Amino acid sequence: MADERITGQCDCGAPAGPLGVCADYYHAILAEEQADPRMYRWHAPVVCAYLLQHPAQAHEKHLDNQFRLLQLYLDRGLDALLRVAAHQVARNNHRARTGYDLTPLAAYAALPAGGPPRRFRAAFSGLPFGGSFVSGGYEAYGNGVEAIAGATVEAWRAVPA
Ligand SMILES: [Zn+2]
Repeated sequence: MADERITGQCDCGAPAGPLGVCADYYHAILAEEQADPRMYRWHAPVVCAYLLQHPAQAHEKHLDNQFRLLQLYLDRGLDALLRVAAHQVARNNHRARTGYDLTPLAAYAALPAGGPPRRFRAAFSGLPFGGSFVSGGYEAYGNGVEAIAGATVEAWRAVPA
């Protein structure tokens, strides 16, 4: 992190914003959403997009699943993502139980092997922050998260399989 601050550029290729590099934005989002259930609705796409833009900070074995979740989010919306994510958590907590329908994720592209992408056209360090991430309203925040998610999937899709 120290190196990123010195160069003012994040390892996703994005320039630092007023709050710092993407990691600074990410941790500020995680802190703020803990106290704001409405903002927390975007937790899953925030985590998936952040880790896919900064895979050095992620567990590699989860990235494929996170890539598919982001595709489902862009394709079918936040409510659909929340339903699938809830089922996955439930399945992980109750290993003996089966029957959850995870086929929605199987329909989406696997994570290409040749990543990570060197650039994304929208980054966490570009999110507006006016004392709060939702100071412009929840819809604007959601649109910002969706733009980052879209940029993440777009860049990964361009990576050679
Ligand atoms: Zn970054």
